Amino acid sequence: CGIVGYIGKRDVAPLLLEGLQRLEYRGYDSAGIAIQGKPAKGTQSAGLKTAKAKGRVRELEARLPKRFAGTTGIAHTRWATHGAPNDTNAHPHLDADGKVAVVHNGIIDNAADLRAKLAADGVELVSETDSEALAHLIGRSQAPTLEEKVRHALALVEGTYGIAVLHADFPDRIVVARNGSPVVLGIGEKEMFVASDVAALVSHTRQVVTLDDGEMATLKADDYRTYTTEGSRTSTSPTTVEWEA
Ligand code: GLU
Repeated sequence: CGIVGYIGKRDVAPLLLEGLQRLEYRGYDSAGIAIQGKPAKGTQSAGLKTAKAKGRVRELEARLPKRFAGTTGIAHTRWATHGAPNDTNAHPHLDADGKVAVVHNGIIDNAADLRAKLAADGVELVSETDSEALAHLIGRSQAPTLEEKVRHALALVEGTYGIAVLHADFPDRIVVARNGSPVVLGIGEKEMFVASDVAALVSHTRQVVTLDDGEMATLKADDYRTYTTEGSRTSTSPTTVEWEA
């Protein structure tokens, strides 16, 4: 239903919760958040941290662990299509190693088939969602870059998606993709936002890039680039949104 993401210098959890609240008007049954944990001195990544809750964004907020610091993260409000509304089925979904976190809007039509193939390969699926398959497909890709891993996974997927992806081994970026479910980038000063709806961005930036179907993007704190799901660069320049506060 709703997606928000941020990469920059600010403490990410309050920013993402605020973004989710701005999407509440769309309706949802559960919410969740994943962040890149703050790395200890001299290490590259501390791994992903997640929190999820059935119910309101307020309930998610109450459930956040005490130590939930980080400056990169993604969050979701879910409107269930596959699997009951509960804590486990709430997004983000993780791969088996807990290195990949995915939030997904839309419906994966061949989810039953993908889940069966993953299960046959020995993957333990923990939720009933169509979306979880994506996290495992990305996690299992042998491709060297996160962009290619996501591209490989999406090549196996039939259906609609707006997604945002974190990977513990690629802590400097968020990868997003769109096919039939809106994804908008918000371009800031040494910080980048992503959301499914400009309503979640406009309090931070008016400079936006709307992805087309079949388009992906990599967000880093000081830079973004867009390309097709086949990997060829697309040229996009931000436009300014008019918004009455
Ligand atoms: N199909 C996914 C699910 O049921 C995503 C639903 C949504 O767009 O919120 O979990």
